[in-house]
Amino acid sequence: MAQLIKGKTGDWEIVIGMEIHAQVIAKSKLFSGSATAFGAEQNTQVSMVDAAMPGMLPVLNKHCVEQAIKTGLGLNAVINETSIFARKNYFYPDLPQGYQISQFEDPIVGLGKIEIDLPDGTVKEIGITRLHLEQDAGKSVHDQHPTKSYVDLNRSGCALMEIVSEPDIRGPEEAAAYINKIRMILRYLETCNGNMDEGSMRADVNVSVRHPGDELGTRAEIKNVNSVKAMQQAIDFEVARQIEIIESGGSVVQETRLWDPVKMETRSMRSKEEAHDYRYFPDPDLLPLTLEEGLIERLRAELPELPDQKKHRFMSEYGLSLYDSTILIAERSRAEYYETVANDNDAKLAANWVINELLGALNKDEKKLEDSPISAAQLGGLIALITDNTISGKIAKDVFAEMYTSGKSADVIVEEKGLKQVTDTGAIEAIIDQVIADNPDNVTAYRSGKDKLFGFFVGQVMKLSEGKANPAMVNDLLKKKL
Ligand code: ADP
Ligand code: MG
Repeated sequence: MAQLIKGKTGDWEIVIGMEIHAQVIAKSKLFSGSATAFGAEQNTQVSMVDAAMPGMLPVLNKHCVEQAIKTGLGLNAVINETSIFARKNYFYPDLPQGYQISQFEDPIVGLGKIEIDLPDGTVKEIGITRLHLEQDAGKSVHDQHPTKSYVDLNRSGCALMEIVSEPDIRGPEEAAAYINKIRMILRYLETCNGNMDEGSMRADVNVSVRHPGDELGTRAEIKNVNSVKAMQQAIDFEVARQIEIIESGGSVVQETRLWDPVKMETRSMRSKEEAHDYRYFPDPDLLPLTLEEGLIERLRAELPELPDQKKHRFMSEYGLSLYDSTILIAERSRAEYYETVANDNDAKLAANWVINELLGALNKDEKKLEDSPISAAQLGGLIALITDNTISGKIAKDVFAEMYTSGKSADVIVEEKGLKQVTDTGAIEAIIDQVIADNPDNVTAYRSGKDKLFGFFVGQVMKLSEGKANPAMVNDLLKKKL
């Protein structure tokens, strides 16, 4: 999968490491009791701590710590019993403290790894370097006054998890698979809502190029990519830019670049600062964070089944393909819906109906599963009618369409419209006799060896029965009578 790019000086390999900032789902901020709800009126969710009034003291939010630990466990990572909050000093108009409380040398979560699913059906492991907790900054607002900028501190002090990957990602497709899997894990764990468009999940992408086998090249860090698509476009642009520079004799500068989605290019924002520029030091207002005994194990026991576990279980327990399982586990609610449908039903048939019919119809209407007019129990009911031969698969599609528009259950529709499959031998024989009587020429032709006409007779019988005759019985009885 690792795609190589042809250049004048040979093949180039893309190397990517990602830093993902994920806003923690918590009612209050990391070090204050202010609310965190998205979309509130500007500067209405700001405590004295968030506004950095002199003498205010931060108080650590235990729930945010637990969320970070859960996430670390979901990333198969080491949880550090002791971690340290440090001040990262820099100036920004929307950072009233003049520093951000973050974690530097001793983060709460250490090395981990996740599996990513690639479009060609293969799976690759990506290393996680660390996850640390930190405060978010406020927001500068530049578009509400012709000459002034405003500051909204509602976001100031909200808890973020920064998840740093190893430089294991080898191209835009792998980068997309990585970000999708991280988002899925966060959503399963309910530790971050993963909404990139609201800024609750933001990615900085570090990109470099090298000839395969060489040392790592110099990286540029790209900020401001707020969708998976933008990220892939930014990587493509950046890779081409770096190869061009190196092949024409120059060298890549380590810097932070900004993605411009209108011009479709990255441009230099600032030269890359080094860690020592921030003058990190342990925050004197906060003790080292030491986890109480048993906390990690308690949280581990509370973890839900995670996407990869679920995917493997769907394959072994229900006999589904990797492809179907991957679609069904993409969201926790989708997997639950499927399992309700599959309950007491043929699991593969259930998967087909959920993926092809239901998700297909919802997708066409741009509806979410949560807004599905057909409940999981109702879809299960429809499949049960197919399995016990009450209706044929073909009629079931019509019933499904009716369920989708009316919200009625399959039983009711089949009863109301008289769609029950005809399995009465006498009734089917009567129809066959009729078809034989109506088509004497074809009967003669068939009997003199034109086998292909059999399909014609089946079609006629089905048509006359309005699709309700049991197809297997029609086949058997036709063979006898012909
Ligand atoms: P910083 O805060 O300076 O950006 P971090 O250690 O937080 O440093 O993040 C560095 C990120 O850059 C990591 O995701 C890492 O995998 C990635 N990275 C490091 N070196 C390279 C490289 N040569 N090419 C691409 N990515 C790299
Ligand atoms: Mg960085």
